[in-house]
Order: sequence, then C-alpha cells, then structure tokens
Amino acid sequence: MRVFRDPPYSDHAYASAELLDSQDKVIVRLCQEFFGHSPEKQREWMTHELIHAHLARLQDVLDQLKDQFPDNAAIVFAKQTHHLAIEVVVQRMARLLAPAMPLPTLPSGVNY
Ligand SMILES: [Zn+2]
Repeated sequence: MRVFRDPPYSDHAYASAELLDSQDKVIVRLCQEFFGHSPEKQREWMTHELIHAHLARLQDVLDQLKDQFPDNAAIVFAKQTHHLAIEVVVQRMARLLAPAMPLPTLPSGVNY
C-alpha cells in the first residue's frame, strides 16, 4: 500500500480506495482530517477502504452496464441502490474486521 497526499474522491469521505487491477495494488487516499481521529477509528476507515477495493470488480460490472445503457432507468436505479447497499455492508464488515487489523502507522518521511 502506498500513501498519497491526494484527497479522497468525495468531499464527504475521510478516505477513498482505488484498485489498480493490472498491478494488483490499491491506492488509498486520506483527507487531512483523517489524522485527527483515534488510531482505532483510522483503522476502521482503512479497513473499510480495503474492503471496497476487494469489491471493486462488482462495482465495475454496474459501472460498465451504466456506461453501455446510460438511459436505462432500471440500471440507473440498480446502480444507486447497489451503491447504498454496498456502503452499509462494507461498513458493517469493517467494524467486525478492524479490531483484528494492526493499528495504522505513518510511513517514515510522511509529514501531515
Ligand atoms: Zn465506503
């Protein structure tokens, strides 16, 4: 995992994850406010993003369908519904799994 100074993709998120499928790597982007929270909360959010990375291929299927049929109301609805459902499931899994993960540490040389 590499840490970047780039903000998350959403203004409303503390973090975002991007799967680099061809390289089998994940880029996790963290906002400045992320580091003001407890290590336990940071670990939960990092776990959340890593779970998203593992589910990215499922999201890609709906994204591709939406790209192929941009005006299909059923696909638009499915994509919106799927997004909300995935957030709930990912957060629940993160709360369960995070305590088993190590607490996050900043790589040496990274200054926030
Ligand atoms: Zn999420």
